[in-house]
Amino acid sequence: MRVCFTSDLHGTPVLYDQLEALLDQERPALLILGGDLCIDALQSDPKGTQAAFVESDLVPRLKRWRRALPSLRVAAIPGNHEWVCTWDILAAHARRGLLELLNLQSPLVLNGLSILGYGCTPPTPFWAKDFERLDLRSDDPGNFDGLCWDAASQKPKRCAAREFFPTRPSMEDDFAVVTPPSDPWVLVAHAPPYGTQLDRLPHVAGPVGSRAVRAFVERSAPCLSLHGHIHESPSLTGGWRERVGRTLCVNPGQEDARLHAVVFSSEDPVGTLRHNLFP
Ligand SMILES: [Zn+2]
Repeated sequence: MRVCFTSDLHGTPVLYDQLEALLDQERPALLILGGDLCIDALQSDPKGTQAAFVESDLVPRLKRWRRALPSLRVAAIPGNHEWVCTWDILAAHARRGLLELLNLQSPLVLNGLSILGYGCTPPTPFWAKDFERLDLRSDDPGNFDGLCWDAASQKPKRCAAREFFPTRPSMEDDFAVVTPPSDPWVLVAHAPPYGTQLDRLPHVAGPVGSRAVRAFVERSAPCLSLHGHIHESPSLTGGWRERVGRTLCVNPGQEDARLHAVVFSSEDPVGTLRHNLFP
């Protein structure tokens, strides 16, 4: 069965339109959206702005795709640009069967292939902090402010990194309690593994990926791991895939005008993997 993966569409209509064309061409059984699927929220009203995108744009698209391809399953993880309140809305749509939200505990299974998903990233310069975590539990939280969703007041609230991050498990902590599914399986994680061709930014000297993701991939050895987040990296390094231990790690990249995606078969994810633009 065919699987399509893309990431970091950031609510961009032209990319979603190209994804629709790709689905029509490839007719996959499963589409995986690897995080940062929504428009950036206004700081003053993250729930309103992202909810409007979900209800007036994303959900109608998903319904249209499902009408055109009745057997299509759509799975997603959040990214650091999503808010928890937005993910609650998508969780409600997931309970009604419109899509499936990937997690680290209960794999989605497609034709014998198990798939786990994880959306958090190490701290970024962006202000939305709901899906950011310390990469390693020993990391310094740093001195900066961000915003996180306060469910009690239904408003964003300021959160200082020194107070916010220590109250949440690190990415390393989250991976430490995962029991990998039996082979073959695929990891979908928004942040790419540290120190690869998949985690480089222009104007930043070193790698910016996740050490925790890298350690988890090395330890648990999925056949394939799918990433996004650092969407400039493949154009910068010339590489959209790199082996880490026994795992082929992939970041298809993303641009504002041209959809970047990969397609593979559930029977042989590595052997059939291809990019829609790059050789
Ligand atoms: Zn991201």
